[in-house]
Amino acid sequence: MKCKVCKGAAVVQVPRHNANFCPLHYKEHIHYQVERVIKSYRMFSKKDRILLGVSGGKDSMVLWNVLRELGYSVQTVHINVRQGDYFEKSEAVVRKFAEETGADLKVYRFRDIFGFEFESALKFSRKPVCSLCGTLKRHAFNRLAKGLNCDVCATAHNLDDETALLLGNVLHWQMGYLRRQSPVLEAETGMVKKVKPAVRITDREMKDYADLFSIGYVDEKCPYSRGATTHFYKDILNRLEDQYPGTKTYFYFKFIKDLKPSLKEASEDTGDVNHCVRCGCKTLQDGKCFVCALADRIKMSAAGQEAVDP
Ligand SMILES: [Zn+2]
Ligand SMILES: [Zn+2]
Repeated sequence: MKCKVCKGAAVVQVPRHNANFCPLHYKEHIHYQVERVIKSYRMFSKKDRILLGVSGGKDSMVLWNVLRELGYSVQTVHINVRQGDYFEKSEAVVRKFAEETGADLKVYRFRDIFGFEFESALKFSRKPVCSLCGTLKRHAFNRLAKGLNCDVCATAHNLDDETALLLGNVLHWQMGYLRRQSPVLEAETGMVKKVKPAVRITDREMKDYADLFSIGYVDEKCPYSRGATTHFYKDILNRLEDQYPGTKTYFYFKFIKDLKPSLKEASEDTGDVNHCVRCGCKTLQDGKCFVCALADRIKMSAAGQEAVDP
């Protein structure tokens, strides 16, 4: 097996690019794929400050390293969501990498940001645990990006995440979600620009990069994760990809390029878009957004509890 570029010994196979690479050229290949997405979707430039949420999983750790080595100005943020081994391990991995590379990292406990524990949020919200965690983190990154003077908020969603999401949205014809699925969401009133620079890289390629260049990451899944459907979709797409390399790229990018613009034109979105009277973020609710309303419910219940308890 020879490297496509230098004909030296290859260590990684990338069938969908019909190529094998040596470590050096594999790195170049991945960096090129990220740079290509950043440029073609005008995500950010070297002048911008990028807020990157890092969980400690392979995707965010690899993207962190890639952006760092490409010379972008990255402010990384880690939110330790709740108590438990997995969360402590994740924080340790993130801190270690920041120390080794001298990177700018800010670590927050969930309570520091919201003023209540994740357990309370879970008790007072009807959302499933993963979706609640995701919603709260997105809200937090938006708020932190503004506070930390960042121009754009990046997440490490990869090609497998995005194609699985697209497949789910297509199978259920989730038109609202389809209209919003994109590598870039431009800034709006109260909302920082959001980007996904890793959408051209697969799960497998992320893992190969992390292993090859000794990027530490937490390998296990979050103990609360119940993404069974997503795993099932990913599995189906992997089987398709094995038979027909390039399927995922075609499925996702053809949608983004050719289908999505027409969805936008036809869009008469359901419901009015409002802005939260407290935090200013975009919301479909009247008055306060989901997160601010949740915070109020938790506060009121705690106050009631105190009044009842002797
Ligand atoms: Zn090579
Ligand atoms: Zn709010």
